[in-house]
Amino acid sequence: MESAEIHRRWLDFFEKKGHTVVPSASLISNDPTTLLTIAGMAPFKPYFLGEQPAPWPRATSVQKCVRTLDIEEVGKTTRHGSFFQMCGNFSFGDYFKERAINLAWELLTASVADGGFGLEPEKLWITVYLDDDEAEEIWKKVGVPAERIQRLGMSENYWSMGVPGPCGPCSEINYDRGPAYGEEGGPAVNGERYLEIWNLVFMQFERGAGGDKNGFPILGELPSKSIDTGLGLERLASILQGVDNLYEIDTSRAILNKAAAIAGVTYGADTKNDISLRVVTDHIKSATMMIGDGITPGNEGRGYILRRLMRRAIRNMRLLGADGATVKQLVETTIEAMGAAYPELIADRSRIEAVAVAEETSFLQTLRTGSVMFETVADEARKSGSATFSGSEAFKLHDTFGFPIDLTLEMASEAGLTVDEDGFRRLMKEQRDQAKADARAKKTGHADVSAYRELLDGAGPSAFTGYHETRSEGL
Ligand code: ATP
Ligand code: MG
Ligand code: MG
Ligand code: MG
Repeated sequence: MESAEIHRRWLDFFEKKGHTVVPSASLISNDPTTLLTIAGMAPFKPYFLGEQPAPWPRATSVQKCVRTLDIEEVGKTTRHGSFFQMCGNFSFGDYFKERAINLAWELLTASVADGGFGLEPEKLWITVYLDDDEAEEIWKKVGVPAERIQRLGMSENYWSMGVPGPCGPCSEINYDRGPAYGEEGGPAVNGERYLEIWNLVFMQFERGAGGDKNGFPILGELPSKSIDTGLGLERLASILQGVDNLYEIDTSRAILNKAAAIAGVTYGADTKNDISLRVVTDHIKSATMMIGDGITPGNEGRGYILRRLMRRAIRNMRLLGADGATVKQLVETTIEAMGAAYPELIADRSRIEAVAVAEETSFLQTLRTGSVMFETVADEARKSGSATFSGSEAFKLHDTFGFPIDLTLEMASEAGLTVDEDGFRRLMKEQRDQAKADARAKKTGHADVSAYRELLDGAGPSAFTGYHETRSEGL
């Protein structure tokens, strides 16, 4: 079943069950606490928090999401994309646990002829929160035997938003991909084999102040209980299309094939190349979708996330052996692959391509000039028997060639060297302090951009994972 069909079926099913179909919101988050839309429920947050009345009692959507937290997972696991689509159904104080569970079961297991996804019930494993007997009882009534229901703790199966704010247990549906993916034992022990596909969040209680994500006070039951669910469209597509991972589904495979063709490599022949091909596929797709929503590459916030995705894609194309410009062809292929679900990409093709190509041109220039110096320094380090890439050289690369530190870190690690990051950051700070002193002396009053620089430099590449503030581990 094609991704576009999964999309359609999802919305049709829930529309027939009385849900209002709400189009995907932009990737540019309307929630000030996150830069990008990270879950299907994000656009509905004000309704769940009770800040605004929900315009409808029930809604359904297929929401574009980007999770920067998952960027580092790409290539390491094959079930995380930095861009993915979250199919959701939502009840704003309307139906609750029993109906949510029954709807999910019906859609997943109904035959394809009947409008469902036709999954075999025996392959579905359920997790519920530790003390959520109610959910377990409902699953048993639906027909899931006790041995395929497992209990998980706070970090996996409990969700909260805001203090005070709604919170409650989750229940997740996982698909057993079989012994080729590892030992049996259920999702509680093996997340590779038992692929998490759908998370049902039961907003049931009100969270009080204090505590942390491992435990917090509960003020009591919410006067009106809500439902938030999220199913990963690409994960379901990988199951329904019988492919191994997210990068091989219909809307990704064409990008992957294109990258392999440009670089002249064969997918499946070399593990290292395969990882690069997956990174390119994932990052180019995310970048295309982000540019489509109006984000442009830059040095802060969303622009920086986009820039980093594009640069990693371009670097991986070079690691694969492509040394010229490749982005135009890759973006074109992505627009073709994603255009069925997002026709606005096709209408906006020339602008999207122009933005992507401009970033590639400038980055290739940076790479050309900086790489020569990088190699010289790396060679010298190796010759002298050192495993360290000095902080002052990393600083020089940054200062003279605009080489971002995360790039130096990545290239050094590929060369078997460790960058003296402390030394680098010390020099960055000295430079900043000097610039501040100069600015004060001159009393120019120009805009001070040092705050975000400090953020980037100070926290290093890990700053990149820090944009997920509102969601707990669960959904
Ligand atoms: P995981 O444990 O695999 O990281 P999650 O628990 O973080 O997933 P949720 O926040 O529960 O994911 O999101 C709901 C659903 O969205 C998941 O069940 C999964 O199908 C899908 N999903 C989440 N993150 C990704 C991702 N990075 N790429 C593809 N699909 C994802
Ligand atoms: Mg996750
Ligand atoms: Mg999970
Ligand atoms: Mg989950």
